[in-house]
Amino acid sequence: MKLIHKKIPAHFLNAMPEGVKFIKKHQQDFLVVEKVYCSKGHNLMADVVRIHGELSINFRLQVGGSEGLVFLDAFWGGHAKLYNFIPDVSSTGPIVNALCPACGMSMIVKDKCRQAGCDSSQAICFALHGNQNKIYVCAKLGCPGHRMEIGNISRRVLEQVSEINYVGVHADDIFMEI
Ligand SMILES: [Zn+2]
Ligand SMILES: [Zn+2]
Repeated sequence: MKLIHKKIPAHFLNAMPEGVKFIKKHQQDFLVVEKVYCSKGHNLMADVVRIHGELSINFRLQVGGSEGLVFLDAFWGGHAKLYNFIPDVSSTGPIVNALCPACGMSMIVKDKCRQAGCDSSQAICFALHGNQNKIYVCAKLGCPGHRMEIGNISRRVLEQVSEINYVGVHADDIFMEI
């Protein structure tokens, strides 16, 4: 993925929730997910796989008849993923089930994707510190839909944050044995 800078709303930067940070790369600010948990409080950040120098977000993924681990780019709007299996999208389509690698709890919740052209009504839910603030990632493989729900930040500002996405979504998927 080529990191392309998108403006992060000042209102968001002034009220950054715990678990999200912004870092400077090539003199530009990027939003990076620093710490997310399953709803039971298991840390999902993995040091074994770093993407763009940052910890990745690790969970189990079930796609059709296939299942394995995925490591997701922690850069907000970056969608690079590293799989240790080949997702089987041919049998049941691109909607996935996501599970906490520690407790096996499903992380799927009902949430209508706001991405134009996407009909998914399910999302993978990541909890930020304290389990109040949440990050929702569309459960349709390949869809860049994602949003944050942060208590003290207005819906309008959060919508602007949701629109931060980078190009090259599919080109960044990597498959390897780990
Ligand atoms: Zn868990
Ligand atoms: Zn979607």
